[in-house]
Amino acid sequence: MFVVEGAFKYTLSHDTEQALETIDLLLGALRMNGQILGREYPVTIDGEKIRTFLLIPEENSLDESRANDYVLKWLAKLENLGVETSWGILGVEPYSAPVCKCLRPKFYILYTTYVSLESPIRCGDCWGVVPLYRLPTTSGGEYVDIISWQSDYQACDTLQMNCSTGERFGTFQLSKYGSSLSKRGIDICSRITELTRIATYYYLMQSTGRGRKAEQTRKCPSCGGEWYLTEPLYGLFDFRCDQCRLLSNIAWSVR
Ligand SMILES: [Zn+2]
Ligand SMILES: [Zn+2]
Repeated sequence: MFVVEGAFKYTLSHDTEQALETIDLLLGALRMNGQILGREYPVTIDGEKIRTFLLIPEENSLDESRANDYVLKWLAKLENLGVETSWGILGVEPYSAPVCKCLRPKFYILYTTYVSLESPIRCGDCWGVVPLYRLPTTSGGEYVDIISWQSDYQACDTLQMNCSTGERFGTFQLSKYGSSLSKRGIDICSRITELTRIATYYYLMQSTGRGRKAEQTRKCPSCGGEWYLTEPLYGLFDFRCDQCRLLSNIAWSVR
């Protein structure tokens, strides 16, 4: 990830209210197009300029060639308001995972955690992050389905991590094959598999188990088949069913 400063400079009018509203719509459209990450963007009004600070997946994420119709619409609206838009890279975000550089990954994994700001698509070959705009759009010319699944997943993961309110609810959503969250995630994986012809796996988190031995004999919750891996994948996944495109881990409590 990179940290970028967005600068919106008045060249004609000084209609701050309209400019702020349009910038907000532009940032929303950029987010739904995978061009910017996270959902908290500090904005400041600084004399002739409105400035904001954003996270982007790659140095060239904001290139106009990646823009969709919504992004172009709000950029044009800003231009009509007499507001000049520019992006300046401030530097690499040091805590971020590397971006996938594979030409054609053999498979993808839909994976996120409560602290992740990155795209929830990981490359199966290098475990690198795959910016969403590398995929065909999955929902009305954008990635709304993936981004809203990600924020709901993170909400459940936060409940599970904080162990105070709704812990059981959060854990159920993250780990049960038939939960509402899992169904939506599996649906997204099927859509990506269909659109890219690259198998996309869904991860079912397992937090508690009866014992390591009992865990190892767990079967795929969809087809009931064997799915235990003798070598864990990326130190995270101990189970993998290629038929159902599912991954899981030996319960953290006994791993
Ligand atoms: Zn890769
Ligand atoms: Zn299966």
